[in-house]
Amino acid sequence: MSEKIIQGCWLLDEIGVTGFQKEEQSSFIGGKPSLPQETDIPLCKLCGAEQTFYLQIAFPDKHVWTGLTLAVFSCTTCVDENHLIPEMLNSSLNGADIPLHFLNEYQKNFRLLVFETSRGKLRRDYSEKILYKPLYLRPLGNPSVVGNKVGGIPNWLLDDEAPRTYAIEHEMFFLLQLSSDTKFDILDSAPSQVELGLRGYPESSPNRYYQLFNGNEIYMFGVLGTEKPLVYVLTQI
Ligand SMILES: [Zn+2]
Repeated sequence: MSEKIIQGCWLLDEIGVTGFQKEEQSSFIGGKPSLPQETDIPLCKLCGAEQTFYLQIAFPDKHVWTGLTLAVFSCTTCVDENHLIPEMLNSSLNGADIPLHFLNEYQKNFRLLVFETSRGKLRRDYSEKILYKPLYLRPLGNPSVVGNKVGGIPNWLLDDEAPRTYAIEHEMFFLLQLSSDTKFDILDSAPSQVELGLRGYPESSPNRYYQLFNGNEIYMFGVLGTEKPLVYVLTQI
């Protein structure tokens, strides 16, 4: 169970908008991603477009994944009613064992990249869409604090849907939660997010912000002991 792994809790504080992006800032929303040199900007497997960079978080000291960074990408140029949120398991979610390969194969119009923080390089070949906002991970003693956070324990909107294991042998732990009211402000030059209109057709959003996974409450879990770090994401509304 994820609860077995005791770890700290950090709130994700936005520390004001700055005009330009500093190479040494390792946790931030928007701007250009900082990725290992050999890592391509992910393409959407549904429409082929370059995915939009949303945010990245360098896990702090005393975190299970200290020294690693998670970068989150998602497509904002296509919409598919079957892929508004990440594919869900067929089984009951609470205490589930996630089948081998699932965590690679479910990443179609989104991508969760995990890499060594020290290998990140600002990707000047990416044209940013989301407004750059540095993040500060503020350590807190209260694991059930409400808000965008890393670690602690999930605040479920509905039932507890924490998985138990990946491919039977790998234990999982709660990685982070993003609130359903999280809006990613976009640059004037950024195209509107394509969303599903009321009549079920793709439409350009009138909003000057993007949302991630249909604006649902987002929960991510990490897998321990696999060769490459893997992330399971599910949402609630
Ligand atoms: Zn797409």
